[in-house]
Amino acid sequence: MTRYCIYCGREDSPENPVVDGVCLECRIKRGEILRVEKNVLRYDICRVCGSVRIGYKWRDTHGFEEAITLIVYEEVPRYVIPGPGVEDLRVEKYEYSTAANWRTMVRVYFAGTYGGKRFTYPVEFTIFFNPSKCPRCKMVDSGEYEAVLQIRGVNSRVLNNILSREFMADKRLREDLVDVIEADNGVNLYFYNHGAARKLARRLAGRLGLRIREDYEVAGTRSGKQRARLSISLKPRK
Ligand SMILES: [Zn+2]
Ligand SMILES: [Zn+2]
Repeated sequence: MTRYCIYCGREDSPENPVVDGVCLECRIKRGEILRVEKNVLRYDICRVCGSVRIGYKWRDTHGFEEAITLIVYEEVPRYVIPGPGVEDLRVEKYEYSTAANWRTMVRVYFAGTYGGKRFTYPVEFTIFFNPSKCPRCKMVDSGEYEAVLQIRGVNSRVLNNILSREFMADKRLREDLVDVIEADNGVNLYFYNHGAARKLARRLAGRLGLRIREDYEVAGTRSGKQRARLSISLKPRK
């Protein structure tokens, strides 16, 4: 039995298949190839470290562009429903309609098949980021650490190598580490105690020829005792 499109009357063909009485071109023209449930999406982003909250989880990213990639491939498909006769619908690629920022428009190209014929279809999404603070950065703010080691001006690959070696080789050091946060031109390492931060600072200073500077700041009291938070800075000698 030959199939014809009820809208345009054309006959079913491999180029323009007719499924359920409607050809591919008419499905697209009528906006029935897919349904978008929501095209304005909002996410919390940590303005300190750039991680983004997807569902209940905070995911590491290094800013808007990386966050948007994550959202386009993992989140956007949840809001798009394939139309009648559409199979294998997925995100093929996307492009920016505006620069990546607090409010970003992206054009997402969906690919799928209709009666065996492959098609792509673009959909515009607007993604809003809400400036926020992730639990990790809140923890750092709340002062659940006793020492911070700030390393600046060291080649990041060299620094990463040496840090991973130090932490691999020293279990105590690993246990005393609260967090590592990338900063401009360097990294901040947060520790539960002064000793660990000092130990690592001395080792790095020796290996990399860095200058150590220590400062204390009062960080409230705990069980009646004044707490002083140690801040150590490591920089190349001038
Ligand atoms: Zn048609
Ligand atoms: Zn954060």
